[in-house]
Amino acid sequence: MREIVSSRDKNRISDVIYKGSKPEFIVRKTLREIYFNKCAYCEIPDSKPEVEHYRPKGKVAEDSNHPGYYWLCYEWTNLLPSCHYCNTETGKVNSFPVSGIRVMSPPLDEAGNSLFAAHTLNSAGLANEKPLLLHPEADTPDNGSYFRFDYTGKIYGIDSRGRGAATIDICDLNRDNLLTFRLKFVTAELILNLEKALDKYYKGEIADVESFVSLLRILFEVWIRGSHPAEPFSLFALYAQNNFIEIIAEDAGKTSEQRLILTKVYEDFVEKRNFLPA
Ligand SMILES: [Zn+2]
Repeated sequence: MREIVSSRDKNRISDVIYKGSKPEFIVRKTLREIYFNKCAYCEIPDSKPEVEHYRPKGKVAEDSNHPGYYWLCYEWTNLLPSCHYCNTETGKVNSFPVSGIRVMSPPLDEAGNSLFAAHTLNSAGLANEKPLLLHPEADTPDNGSYFRFDYTGKIYGIDSRGRGAATIDICDLNRDNLLTFRLKFVTAELILNLEKALDKYYKGEIADVESFVSLLRILFEVWIRGSHPAEPFSLFALYAQNNFIEIIAEDAGKTSEQRLILTKVYEDFVEKRNFLPA
């Protein structure tokens, strides 16, 4: 039988997470790095995110008889970095609706020991709960099947199970500041620069059509880097790039001719860019 020791000497502990003077900072720092200093739910930049429990640890808003997923309190796959708003206020707090069989207690073996393998996010028991809240990693919300946006930055759920809509509702993803920030970080600067370029071109202030097209291509090249996962609101950026007419051209072009020019140059730019070596 293994000897059980008790010591205040942190150097006797092998787990590195407990060896720091402030262990919670190690968890937060690691989550922050993985998620590029962004909230895992709303993508707002946050250099001091809170450590959020995907499955709430203390209680479940949708089931007053549930004690909370206390056994997942320190389960790594249950932790996400969250901004204060998404974690509290009108955000997620203890909400965790499911459409499957809710797990009410920790899985134990006959001796009463925790079955840690059944604690991970993708374990069969937990997967059978069929959560409505999308998990930023396990559910790949950027694959185009859960969300669409409009040109104001508003997000909508589109999947038949309603997971996108539920996630928007749970995390309040259409709050005013998010709409403002999505436009500020993703579309506003490009639209303004395209408007300026079109204005100059139609006033004859750009030498020729080749120079005009070159200018547009430079603007697109700078903009398209904003969909990198490290950038704030990259989900909206990716959507805008894949839906250029709806999100950008219709706003930046004052006439149908201008909108057509922007669309044609953009489509040609994307086509040629896709052939470039990575
Ligand atoms: Zn957030």
